[in-house]
Amino acid sequence: MAKAVGIDLGTTNSVISVMEGGEATVLVNSEGNRTTPSVVGFKEDVRLVGQVAKRQAVLNAKGTLFEIKRYMGRTWDEVHTEVERAPYEVVRGDDGGVRFVVAGEKYTPEEVSAMILRKMVADASEQLGQKITKAVITVPAYFNNAQREATQNAGKIAGLEVLRIVNEPTAAALAYGLDKKGNETVLVFDLGGGTFDVSILEVGDGVFEVRSTSGDTHLGGSDMDYAVVNWLADDFQKEYAVDLRKDKQALQRLLEASEKAKIELSGLPETTVSLPFIAMDPASNAPLYLEKKLTRAKFEELIAPLMARVRGPVEQALKDAKLSRDQVDEIILVGGATRVPAVKRLVKELLGKDPNQTVNPDEVVALGAAIQAGVLTGEVDDIVLLDVTPLSLGVETKGGVFTKLIDRNTTVPVRKSETFSTADHNQTGVEVHVLQGERAMASDNKSLGRFKLDGIPPMPAGMPQIEITYDIDANGVLNVSAKEKSTGKAASITIQNTTTLADTEVERMVQDAARNAEEDKVRKEKAEALNQLDGLRLQAQKALDEATAATDEQKQPLQAAIADAQGAVEAQAPKAEAEAKTQALATALQAFQQAVAAATASEAEPTPEAGPEASGDDDVIDADFKPAS
Ligand code: AMP
Repeated sequence: MAKAVGIDLGTTNSVISVMEGGEATVLVNSEGNRTTPSVVGFKEDVRLVGQVAKRQAVLNAKGTLFEIKRYMGRTWDEVHTEVERAPYEVVRGDDGGVRFVVAGEKYTPEEVSAMILRKMVADASEQLGQKITKAVITVPAYFNNAQREATQNAGKIAGLEVLRIVNEPTAAALAYGLDKKGNETVLVFDLGGGTFDVSILEVGDGVFEVRSTSGDTHLGGSDMDYAVVNWLADDFQKEYAVDLRKDKQALQRLLEASEKAKIELSGLPETTVSLPFIAMDPASNAPLYLEKKLTRAKFEELIAPLMARVRGPVEQALKDAKLSRDQVDEIILVGGATRVPAVKRLVKELLGKDPNQTVNPDEVVALGAAIQAGVLTGEVDDIVLLDVTPLSLGVETKGGVFTKLIDRNTTVPVRKSETFSTADHNQTGVEVHVLQGERAMASDNKSLGRFKLDGIPPMPAGMPQIEITYDIDANGVLNVSAKEKSTGKAASITIQNTTTLADTEVERMVQDAARNAEEDKVRKEKAEALNQLDGLRLQAQKALDEATAATDEQKQPLQAAIADAQGAVEAQAPKAEAEAKTQALATALQAFQQAVAAATASEAEPTPEAGPEASGDDDVIDADFKPAS
């Protein structure tokens, strides 16, 4: 069976992994490295991807694209901060999206990401000795649907079938095998090259639920590198009156040396930055050397302002998940910058617990993605990895009632259909109002969207069969469709991100529902009683209209009961009154039908039983359904 890979398509670096002999394994690229910088360089006719592109970044600033993930699935209006910082040219596309311009050619973020993916997959195929065509790709938990779709499209452009888009913290938890444990609260602390993400997950029975996310989109290992660059350059400037940052070549070398020093200081108490021939002395025209010792203590002093920015998002994520730090069972470190000892210390200080760091933080996300890929291709079978709907999904039905189609915590993908009908006679259109929440009445839930289905042939209320289908795919995208069965007329709507709702919102809605359960029940029962009365009223009216042979005397009591029912519905009478009127109307209808049947005994039709249902078991859909205009 063809293998499927897991890809961590990162802001700074990307990693590709595969299941081999039942174990998730990172694949090395053609340069022999386990991580590939997410950088694409354009140099004359040559396209460079990865380390070679990173190497020439500062020297070829306009022709080197990096941190492209920041633009994925975002509109031009959303990326002003990014555009201002970028040394390369970014313009607005005709579609309001983002384009990178290199040597007069325009590229979309998806295309650039695809170049990175293509290199990784080509190298992986080479290493595995088989062409890779299927992949699971990870994205940050906070990515919205447009960003997820863009990632999926990047995969497609690279010639891949993207089996699934998976949340990065979920992949990390999966790599730690946390899905196999009982219910656990996991905090994923992800400090990469350029971004900082904190996610809190609830993991149990193969279900991963993101409870909250927080972070800083401009905080990471590169900021540490720049802190070292500035320290070195300031010092050099003081001594030689030369600002190395102004010389691109010198800056590139300083950056590389600073990153190297930072990495070395994760294992050593001190290191020396040594850069021969870094500049020319303006006074003597002699070459200048930079040689400077950097201790871990000094490095920690340099990055202290950055470390201070870590605290806020951690506290925010806990607050949003309504958890105290003691309620966190596991802390997982993700991202190369978490190897910095000061970061690990800070995590422990903030959360009062040692972080779990048995899996390589650069690789943990890709490893989890490979496990997920293995699950989807059937290679791994002892794990069920599931995403769930955080809240129930349903439709507004007559009387403003919320009718659930998919319950909260249902695993996705899922598809459910139910047949509804019209509330009025000759109603030629219905409005489908898609809602999410736990409350009994539609107005108390979250409205996700509405659409109209027109062209229903005129029929008595309750006759048309309108099949409503809710279909949530593995990426949490909900498609709702409505189809009138006799004509096949259909309409639909697509709603994004039904499984990645902010968890604070989920929590609030669930609690709201619990708090209002009693009151909601009363309102729902009242709405249902009124619906029943109104349905019977329509049925009685129809019986009346059709009984052309009936005398006025026969009609009168039923007409009175119908008028009475209508009055009660319009006045939104209490439940008990609605029930009493339903009983009275049913009795009047039955008496009327018996009288008519007796009078026309020779051509008697079977007496329909009086009851609220006009057409079998079907629900009567939303009172707001309006006749098609
Ligand atoms: P990531 O985006 O997860 O690949 O993280 C990349 C960042 O981690 C870069 O800023 C790297 O310099 C940094 N990094 C990688 N290894 C180490 C290490 N051993 N110590 C400190 N930082 C590291």
